[in-house]
Amino acid sequence: MLIEHQDSPRYIRLHADDNVGVVVNDQGVAAGSRFADGLAAIEHIPQSHKVALTDIAAGGEVVRYGQVIGYALQPISRGSWVTEAHLRMPEPPALDNLPRATQVAAPAEPLEGYTFEGFRNPDGSVGTRNLLGVSTTVQCVAGVLEHCVERARKELLPKYPNVDDVIALTHSYGCGVAINAPDAVIPIRTLFNLARNPNLGGQALVIGLGCEKLQPVQLMPGDELTSGMSEQQWLYRLQESGNGFAGMVDQILGLIEGRLKVLDARRRETCPASELVVGMQCGGSDAFSGITANPALGVAADLLVRAGATVMFSENTEVRDGIHLLTPRAATPEVADALIREMDWYDRYLERGMADRSANTTPGNKKGGLNNIVEKAMGSIAKSGSSPIAGVVAPGEKVKGKGLQFCATPASDFICGTLQLAAGMNLHIFTTGRGTPYGLAMVPVIKVATRTELAERWPDLIDVDAGQVTSGRLSLEELGWEIFQLYLDVASGRKHTWAERHRLHNDLVLFNPAPVT
Ligand code: CA
Repeated sequence: MLIEHQDSPRYIRLHADDNVGVVVNDQGVAAGSRFADGLAAIEHIPQSHKVALTDIAAGGEVVRYGQVIGYALQPISRGSWVTEAHLRMPEPPALDNLPRATQVAAPAEPLEGYTFEGFRNPDGSVGTRNLLGVSTTVQCVAGVLEHCVERARKELLPKYPNVDDVIALTHSYGCGVAINAPDAVIPIRTLFNLARNPNLGGQALVIGLGCEKLQPVQLMPGDELTSGMSEQQWLYRLQESGNGFAGMVDQILGLIEGRLKVLDARRRETCPASELVVGMQCGGSDAFSGITANPALGVAADLLVRAGATVMFSENTEVRDGIHLLTPRAATPEVADALIREMDWYDRYLERGMADRSANTTPGNKKGGLNNIVEKAMGSIAKSGSSPIAGVVAPGEKVKGKGLQFCATPASDFICGTLQLAAGMNLHIFTTGRGTPYGLAMVPVIKVATRTELAERWPDLIDVDAGQVTSGRLSLEELGWEIFQLYLDVASGRKHTWAERHRLHNDLVLFNPAPVT
């Protein structure tokens, strides 16, 4: 039902226990405005900020999503604006006594017959794009390789029309790092698995310098990616050049063209939706993230699970305060233990840097009505829908198995995206309330706005307007189905996202918790 009187003061209360509501109106509500239920705003309250629905005593609980997001530092009057200054943040849930696999949803009815057109790889995985990715062992080679990739796009790619792009997998790792430190395993396995992303067609090609710490064999240890190839066919070190820069460029362009010929022979084929590996994350969140966009992704995630696909949620600091809601949903006690282990590791990682999860929220989040990380986390985990959590992926590892997976990553958009790529994501969806032009070179990125105002202001960046939920044009269920259909269209190459059309590509950013030297 389309909501009438769009301009009259409105708030959204998500849970019957909530004693705050979120103001919907684009311009906020003025002092003295009266909501439909008779509640009067006693001061101006901006859009996406909270109005107190009851009087809350000093020390009283402030409840949103049915969860305590803070304790009142002073009495809060009914109808007033609830801000960060009014709240003391709760402690995160203790990790040592959490319910494990106690509320596992019954298997939902399978969704049969949904397919997309994809590129089947030798290892059985399926790409949604046909890309040549050139791996690198060290940042020293980035300039030369970027030069070669630019030339390959202009001079070679037109001859191989079935290849979508040539991309350089450049990064800041490889040398000047404590490569034997225990935590160095994370960036190294990330680079290993990035080279094996399903959108790269199983083509091994590594550019190194020659004297760096990260050795090419750590990326290509002789597995199926290089079987039947001599080292000269998959590796070139710049220090081997006998003819300066020109010699390097000739060698690299020759190797690139060899791979383009192989990739160009591939064709899309009909694949079941179960071959999708969708990575979900949010960035530039606001108070609507947990009302519109993230719950719609949750509906679509449940549909993906029913179709047999893999769907990942992430962002440790945005899960930490909701961990007590997630461990009961773990498919087994072992999966719950893995969730707890990742949270514990991350707590200690932050402690080493003398920080905690409250370092997550940004000035923009707060301007968007999110008072603290607890409130942000409750909205963030809405992406996970209601399916059982089937598995946990440690940072830089590849996802094993289907269903809903927690891929443990920092919340940083670029690091989360990079780690989801390493996990084997072939399609990415990203929700935003404040707005970001985020994109990745290796997979299509679908961007979802939490509010219609943003979707209308950025019509050539935002792919989906989840604000249609607050205006009553679509139910969450309908929007979730639209997103599910969009996954199949984008995966098939029938539709291209705005980030793809503009070639908006953020850098790969490795998570390196180990020391640099
Ligand atoms: Ca993020």
